[in-house]
Amino acid sequence: MKFSCVYIEEEVVNTQRVQEILQRLPPTPQVTIKRYGEVFNRRSQNFRLQKQKPALILAKKHGNLVLPAPTGYGFNDNPGFYFSHMLNCVYDCRYCFLQGMYRSANYVLFTNYEDFATQLQIKTHGQSVNPVFYSGYDCDSMALEPVSHFAEFFVDWFADNPAATLELRTKSTQLRSLYNRQPVSNCIIAMSFTPKDIYRRWESKVPGIEKRLDALKKLQEQGWPVAIRLEPLIYESDFENSYDQLLSDIFEKIDGNRIHSISTGMFRMPKTFFKNISNLYPDELLYARKYEQSHGMIAQSSTQEAEMLESIEDMLCRYVPIKHYYRCA
Ligand code: SF4
Repeated sequence: MKFSCVYIEEEVVNTQRVQEILQRLPPTPQVTIKRYGEVFNRRSQNFRLQKQKPALILAKKHGNLVLPAPTGYGFNDNPGFYFSHMLNCVYDCRYCFLQGMYRSANYVLFTNYEDFATQLQIKTHGQSVNPVFYSGYDCDSMALEPVSHFAEFFVDWFADNPAATLELRTKSTQLRSLYNRQPVSNCIIAMSFTPKDIYRRWESKVPGIEKRLDALKKLQEQGWPVAIRLEPLIYESDFENSYDQLLSDIFEKIDGNRIHSISTGMFRMPKTFFKNISNLYPDELLYARKYEQSHGMIAQSSTQEAEMLESIEDMLCRYVPIKHYYRCA
């Protein structure tokens, strides 16, 4: 993986993990910085230009590293949390809210994994009963794995802490670190899918649907719990045909009776993010559509959402026991 530059916080520059990460990269200019905000939060950055030649920032995350997941985010009623070892994503989905959340398209990789683990430990053995930790909220969990070795570290941690569950949400096929080890029953690999037409139009750099399904099939055959995330659901007049095809493709490879879960999630985002992205991509038709606004969020019309959910849920019943299905808020 190539980056235009690697910025390294002076606090982590001499750590073993950072040195190992640097050894995995091709020769790249390096700049030492005080705090990642100097590079990442600067004003007048152009996300669209930076996305063409992003830099990698190696940093230490301070403060609350494990946060409560938004209400209705997860697959059960257990206490839910999310944690982000990265900000931004190596893929470039036009519908992604990250483009509207950050000014910078550079990738921040937080390398103090042990501090994350300490906070996971506190949540797991404190007041929460069987908590679920979601990774992949501010990034893709696996896309930078060959450089970060993030999953390698955290899957080990969850293997030693079976009271907690991890969901690694991804669109990546960089799954070698999982193939190379025994499956861990409390680590769920959740892969997101949209139909082919949406993939082609709006999921730049994301591995193809077939490739992702092959990767997920391999994990399922090895005994990993795998999950399907149908998101974001974006309304198209022929969505029924597209989802019919997508579900048929998915369940030709994945055993619906053995999946951990399958969920749907709507295309929605805070109004401010939506506005930022519309400004970045003024010609993008996705952002020129008519949406509804409520409580600071932009969403498709409730009629369209209901139509999609009803129809897709009907189709799902053909492939999976309905107890494995949930709607992600
Ligand atoms: S893969 Fe996920 S995180 Fe990455 S750009 Fe696409 S939607 Fe955003």
